[in-house]
Amino acid sequence: MAKDLVEFRNLKTHFHTSAGTVKAVDDVSFTIREGETLCVVGESGCGKSVTAMSLMRLLEVPPVGGEILFEGKDLLQMNKRDISMIRGNEIAMIFQEPMSSLNPVLTIGEQIVEPIMLHQLVTRKEARTRAIELINLVGIPRAEKIYDSYPHELSGGMRQRIMIAIALSCNPKLIVADEPTTALDVTIQAQILDLMRDIKKKFNTSIMLITHDLGVVAEMADYVVVMYAGKVIEEAPVIELFQNPKHPYTKGLLKAKPVINQKQDRLYSIPGQVPNPIELGNNCHFHDRCEFCMKICTEKEPPLGLDPDGHKVACWLYEEEGKQK
Ligand code: SF4
Repeated sequence: MAKDLVEFRNLKTHFHTSAGTVKAVDDVSFTIREGETLCVVGESGCGKSVTAMSLMRLLEVPPVGGEILFEGKDLLQMNKRDISMIRGNEIAMIFQEPMSSLNPVLTIGEQIVEPIMLHQLVTRKEARTRAIELINLVGIPRAEKIYDSYPHELSGGMRQRIMIAIALSCNPKLIVADEPTTALDVTIQAQILDLMRDIKKKFNTSIMLITHDLGVVAEMADYVVVMYAGKVIEEAPVIELFQNPKHPYTKGLLKAKPVINQKQDRLYSIPGQVPNPIELGNNCHFHDRCEFCMKICTEKEPPLGLDPDGHKVACWLYEEEGKQK
């Protein structure tokens, strides 16, 4: 079995606002293994991006509790210098909108060379050669010309390829990709996903992919973590999750996915809305929207239980206590 690379242990990232405390990520635990693509899926506001930003230590306010172990060391306890040596070097991030991540006044070449020079003992000439290799690797022709181009001269798909080249520049062990294809049209989206799959195969890179799109999950994931209202509510290997979803929310997400070659008059949507993150109680946060809601669901939070197939679900339907009510 592959080794654990990242372990989120009881992570809590809360934001204090004038209206109250937003528990954006609340007691979240899961593991990313070496060479694995782990997809974190859920509606917007479920805490998936905040989990990724907590890992990258990119939030102004640090998590209020828990640990994020990277190769056994807690990233949350590291000083700024140590974390900056890991960020961009061992863990790299790709964002949704490449235009806002690239610096518009620097050439593509300068932006790829910068992290190489920062993290590796190489000359500028060697860094340039590596940058051109990377532009080729991500499938952009005329790499030398692109090296001297500015971001606005490239298409959206090419800019995202450049972001992937920057992410790869220091051979990271983990790439965190937050909705990397959402801003792209479907053809380019498929090409970028192919590229990420190739990279994972070639370099055995682990990928943490944040997405709301179950089509992307089906294509990319080895393992899936489903989040809802700041909590992990289900997790399982991808085939197990798609064939045997357990949580009513996951079942709803799968039902809401369009099916090719099947006539659907109207797409299903899960009734109701995500609860106000300030008013979350100690109960199942999905209870307002759940057709199976029982008394216990409104009174007590279901634990994330593990079954013998390695499938975890937080729902009273699968707990003895829930069955007895
Ligand atoms: Fe529905 Fe209860 Fe399960 Fe929550 S715990 S998903 S309300 S059955």
